[in-house]
Amino acid sequence: MAKRQAPVVKNEIYDVTFEDLTHEGAGVAKIEGFPIFVENALPDEQAKIKVIKVNKGFAFGRLVELKQESAHRIDAPCPIYSQCGGCQLQHVSYEGQLEYKRKQVEQVLARIGKLDLNQVKVHPTLGMEDPWSYRNKAQVPVGEREGGLVAGFYQKRSHDIIDMERCLIQQADNDDVVQAVKRICEKYGIRAYNEEKHKGWLRHIMVRYGLITNELMVVFVTRTADFPHKADMIKEITETFPRVKSIVQNINSKRTNVIFGDETNVIWGEEYIYDKIGDVKFAISARSFYQVNPEQTKVLYDKALEYAQLTGEESVIDAYCGIGTISLFLAQKAKKVFGVEIVPEAIEDANRNAELNGFTNAEFAVGEAEVVIPNWYKQGNKADVIVVDPPRKGCDEALLTTILDMKPKRVVYVSCNPGTLARDLHLLEQGGYETVEVQPVDMFPHTVHCEAVALIELK
Ligand code: SAH
Repeated sequence: MAKRQAPVVKNEIYDVTFEDLTHEGAGVAKIEGFPIFVENALPDEQAKIKVIKVNKGFAFGRLVELKQESAHRIDAPCPIYSQCGGCQLQHVSYEGQLEYKRKQVEQVLARIGKLDLNQVKVHPTLGMEDPWSYRNKAQVPVGEREGGLVAGFYQKRSHDIIDMERCLIQQADNDDVVQAVKRICEKYGIRAYNEEKHKGWLRHIMVRYGLITNELMVVFVTRTADFPHKADMIKEITETFPRVKSIVQNINSKRTNVIFGDETNVIWGEEYIYDKIGDVKFAISARSFYQVNPEQTKVLYDKALEYAQLTGEESVIDAYCGIGTISLFLAQKAKKVFGVEIVPEAIEDANRNAELNGFTNAEFAVGEAEVVIPNWYKQGNKADVIVVDPPRKGCDEALLTTILDMKPKRVVYVSCNPGTLARDLHLLEQGGYETVEVQPVDMFPHTVHCEAVALIELK
């Protein structure tokens, strides 16, 4: 079938009404059914736009004049919001953000998952009481300007580093430590890494923070293995911030955009800082994966645990278990938990965390969930409840097929991508499962990222 001619022309101005928001946070307007994506526009807004690019089935536009504002529109509180790109929804009231996220989940469940929204309840998004200063990890690139260092963020669509004193979604402590480390480095004449010349020493500063313990970790990512003025710098950092328990150097000598290199050495203090989610304690090293919003992580895991409906008799699988965070949460209430994860270092952390908390009913295996779990099942093992928390691309089909064969009573699906959640729910539904309810949880306020947990039961 021949594609029809686009009804819009590049560089022309149009009057439009926005209907929807994309998953990247752009407004969607339609002219004769032809979608046009416009940054910084919200559903129900009316505007004059200029079309800047026309593709085969859609176009991009730019706001020229906003004629009617959405009730959800606010002034973004952050002064660097438009330059940074780290947040995408600061121009939307928090209430509005939560509602957009719920709607996004509903839309994909209906469109991709083919679910009947009269039967599957999508609850209002669980948000934060105070949705600011939530990130427990700062990871900032370092550059140079005349007379000193800059540490902050890459300007949108570029590799220029803009200096930043305060990031509103970051724990203020993390910003304070980054600023102090920057000043201390300047004092000792430390040179920042220069991407083009592949010269200089300091590439990134990372700071991690344990919300419950208040412990801090500072990581220097450097091009070379030396550490100029080491004793003096350590002394200044630890005297300024007595809560710093660990200082680490990671060496990344490659020409790459990847932040970390392969070699990590503790140069002062402990290898780990600690944090707690609910009653479970976690050891966090420089390279461990750990959720960045610990307050909402507890909300998410409590919901997963509630959906699992454990009585103490169940055998539970936690697929894509990372450092065993969900597994250990489940181990509090299950007879036995079996966690599977592809990254060997994460499984080392998971075993350490199980020991740290005295859990003897959690076991972990390294490997692909879609290989390990089918093998485990072939050997005659079965789970009563399966929890999955896959990366953005969702579950591998081989894993879903094994779930359908194994027939656990319940599946609890924790998802960071509603689209792949919906796709996988469709497959489970076709195989005899029923999606009962879905709870979106806002793990990343002011960004477009949308997390949800679904309860799926065997019919
Ligand atoms: N449940 C954990 C981590 C979830 S992130 C938590 O809440 O902290 C998803 C995890 O899946 C990552 O740790 C990633 O390394 C892992 N992963 C990715 N592909 C995988 C696969 N095919 N099999 C098993 N684990 C995988």
